[in-house]
Amino acid sequence: MSVRVVARLRPLLAQELEKDIIVHTDSVEPEKPPTIVKIPNPRNESEEFSFTFNGVYGSETTQETLFTSEAVAPHIKSLFQGLDVTIFAYGVTGTGKTHTMRGGMKLAERGVIPRLLSGIFRRGKKIMKDTDGETTVDVALSYYEIYNDKVYDLMEPPEKRTPTGLPLRAEANGKTVVVGLTERACEDLKDFETLYIEANNNRVTAATKLNAHSSRSHAILRVKLTQTTGNMVRESTASAIDLAGSEDNRRTDNGKERMVESAAINKSLFVLSQCIDAISQGAKRIPYRESKMTRILSLGQNNGITVMILNLSPLRNYHLDTLSSLNVSSRAKRIEVREIENEVVFKQVPRTNSVTTTRQPLKPLAN
Ligand code: ADP
Ligand code: MG
Repeated sequence: MSVRVVARLRPLLAQELEKDIIVHTDSVEPEKPPTIVKIPNPRNESEEFSFTFNGVYGSETTQETLFTSEAVAPHIKSLFQGLDVTIFAYGVTGTGKTHTMRGGMKLAERGVIPRLLSGIFRRGKKIMKDTDGETTVDVALSYYEIYNDKVYDLMEPPEKRTPTGLPLRAEANGKTVVVGLTERACEDLKDFETLYIEANNNRVTAATKLNAHSSRSHAILRVKLTQTTGNMVRESTASAIDLAGSEDNRRTDNGKERMVESAAINKSLFVLSQCIDAISQGAKRIPYRESKMTRILSLGQNNGITVMILNLSPLRNYHLDTLSSLNVSSRAKRIEVREIENEVVFKQVPRTNSVTTTRQPLKPLAN
């Protein structure tokens, strides 16, 4: 399988004065769901470019429809089968990445992340019930951001952050992990919401000319699922990533501080596009190591399911940035990933008949 790339076009917003819509969706055949995004060639407007994706979601798509589509919901089952799942939102600031991943507070406005957690808890509870508690399901959360190529734990308040950020380490199984990241056990959706809201308040955001609440950092939520049956332990993770905006910052009139940020944000997104190019061309050397975000994302290196959600604005004033993000994600479709399960690990349990491993205090004998 390859990286699954889907595009989501956001609607025109009430406050948007410019109404020049230039991005459209299309289907290969009438009546079929759309799989094509069309945009004019900026050099010659009589010409149109077409990009085909695994799925295309038009501006009328609700949060519920996107979630229950092929793009997301089926991967919950795969996660329980032991596959790692990565879902990341890519696109220009103001195109709906945070709306897609996090969404609003109202039930209908909830994004992929709360719905994913809700689906995981529901399935976990069902498994425990169906196996009469023989299988236990545990969920633990980590949430961090990469800001200026430094990793910060979002489960920690900003004043407790190490200014240099947390280091990364490559594990024996090839996965890259953040060293010293907080992991919080999470029992249910309510637990999750409390943790998630608290952590989001720790996120670094700053106003830019393009978007008052523009996120200047990459936010990564990691859900660790542990299924234990006897001494068999199966672990898998779901990662939901809201990347920083992919726009060309020459357009945003940034001040000096913002420029430092932009350079680092752009560098990681630039490295990501270089990685995508290199992998899709079958190059030997992939520049993963040149940014923390690409090391963590490890496109095409991790086993499991990878979904890229490309968020798009329909408007003309995003034209060049939209085209550039369409090009990047279109190449990402060519990245092969091995969709294989993590191995089951056997936990060492002390043998009950062995005297040396019995640590329980002796119960007083009756009488
Ligand atoms: P990004 O995270 O990519 O910068 P946001 O998610 O913040 O973009 O979206 C920008 C604005 O557009 C927000 O006000 C958001 O609520 C709105 N928006 C984005 N996508 C949609 C959508 N599909 N439906 C309704 N509003 C949307
Ligand atoms: Mg955002």
